[in-house]
Amino acid sequence: MTIRTHFSAAHRLAPNLSVDKYGRCTQTHGHNYHLEVTVEGEIDSRTGMIVDVAALNRVVEDYVVRIFDHSCVNEDIPYFADIVPTTENISRYIHGLLESPIDELGVKLANIKLFESHQLWADYPGKDRSGYLSISTHFSSAHRLAHPDLSLAKNTEIYGKCARVNGHGHNYQLEVTIKGEIDSSTGMVIDLGALNQIITDYVIEPFDHTFLNKDVAFFNQVVPTAENIALYISNTLRSPIQELGATLYKVKLVESPNNACEIYAADSESISVNTAVSQPVLAIV
Ligand SMILES: [Zn+2]
Repeated sequence: MTIRTHFSAAHRLAPNLSVDKYGRCTQTHGHNYHLEVTVEGEIDSRTGMIVDVAALNRVVEDYVVRIFDHSCVNEDIPYFADIVPTTENISRYIHGLLESPIDELGVKLANIKLFESHQLWADYPGKDRSGYLSISTHFSSAHRLAHPDLSLAKNTEIYGKCARVNGHGHNYQLEVTIKGEIDSSTGMVIDLGALNQIITDYVIEPFDHTFLNKDVAFFNQVVPTAENIALYISNTLRSPIQELGATLYKVKLVESPNNACEIYAADSESISVNTAVSQPVLAIV
């Protein structure tokens, strides 16, 4: 069960981070944080609930919102006098604040998800220093769902209007989730600037404002469905992210309000992706 709340707080990425590397984030600035608290437990056969939701809301209000809302995290919360208040570190700290009082409600705290913005959020499930960081970005591309070896009639039968010969476009929203150790000095699971650069270089720059079937060699023969695009992105990003000392956990590609695809990178490793144009990923039956 997950409850959602929010607080507004100021912070600056200090004292350990350099202006050179983190730019304006070293200056005090604010965010409207959104917090999701997930608990797990047995469903009570009498109430049909795993926890008294009002009591859970009160705990989160008393132990987190009351402390963080309209504060400057660096100045007002002693823990962050020497600890950089990154989204990862704040999530971990909130987990520490909530674990015991939530235990007392008879359920287990399963995850803290903290959104700094719609573009950046952290998940902390409570395992030592291991956490998740997600970023959201977007690109606009045209595509056509049609396998080149099949007739228009067959492609239309499989893909419907998406097989129309001149293609159509989407504003794709891409979410990339990284798993790693929260670095005790930087407070981050990955160098965020470097991660953004990798996503720009490997995905946004080659994909944005293109016709995927024609402009991205991989999709000359591989049908650019949301699944295949997400799989390609997952397999393309895995190594460069590993070189930054973290692990790609998940790629989520939202193609339209009606459909989205999630690829868990560990699973996608076993799916053969060959960039040779003669090896389509999608099996046509
Ligand atoms: Zn489409």
